[in-house]
Amino acid sequence: MIDPQTVMANLAELREAIARAVEDNERASTDVALIAVSKTMPAEAIRPALEAGQRLFGENYVQEAKAKWPALREAFPDVELHLIGPLQSNKAREAVELFDVIHTLDRTSLAASLAKEIQRSGRHPRLLVQVNTGEEPQKGGVAPGAVDAFLAECRETHGLAVSGLMCIPPAEDPPSAHFGLLAAIARRHALPVLSMGMSADYPAAIQMGATHVRVGSAIFGARQMRG
Ligand SMILES: *Cc1c(COP(=O)(O)O)cnc(C)c1O
Repeated sequence: MIDPQTVMANLAELREAIARAVEDNERASTDVALIAVSKTMPAEAIRPALEAGQRLFGENYVQEAKAKWPALREAFPDVELHLIGPLQSNKAREAVELFDVIHTLDRTSLAASLAKEIQRSGRHPRLLVQVNTGEEPQKGGVAPGAVDAFLAECRETHGLAVSGLMCIPPAEDPPSAHFGLLAAIARRHALPVLSMGMSADYPAAIQMGATHVRVGSAIFGARQMRG
């Protein structure tokens, strides 16, 4: 496992790099938030980031987050937890209970399940619609051409307030065109949140208007394959 000193050093370096990208693009430092992606990382790897003041964390799997975060949250109650992985409708209840922001709203059935659980629980996680900017069949997300109708449906049929958009560009493409497309759709709908940019491409995302970058391996090191 990665040692605590390395996590702290990586995080400090990343914060500096983000600050440089923010400055280079004449944006305000408060415009860009860092989500530390801690999927597959044990609590001992996450604690040094918490101790260094990091408060926004991203997880991909509901069950894993449920196992790790209640204890960490007791020690750090102001943590903000982001679900950035695909969400099955039958996990909507747990997701609404656990997460503050859900980045992966991408289909009608999930909108219906989330609306039901939000009403039942009285909890209101912020919601982002994932857009499949590369139209990759294996990836989640709404096709760019279907976003307008999907946003209208979320609002009108399900009473859901959507705060912004999220994308994961195809690994083989230069990411900027995808970030630009996501930013244009968000602008058209006056959506304030843009979740885009990972370890390999967060400077480009900041340049294109990201408000949230999701960075994992640059902080916590390479992940083991998930078995
Ligand atoms: C894993 C993951 C990240 C972080 O990726 P890194 O390359 O490790 O920074 C960001 N966003 C999503 C949706 C992810 O699944």
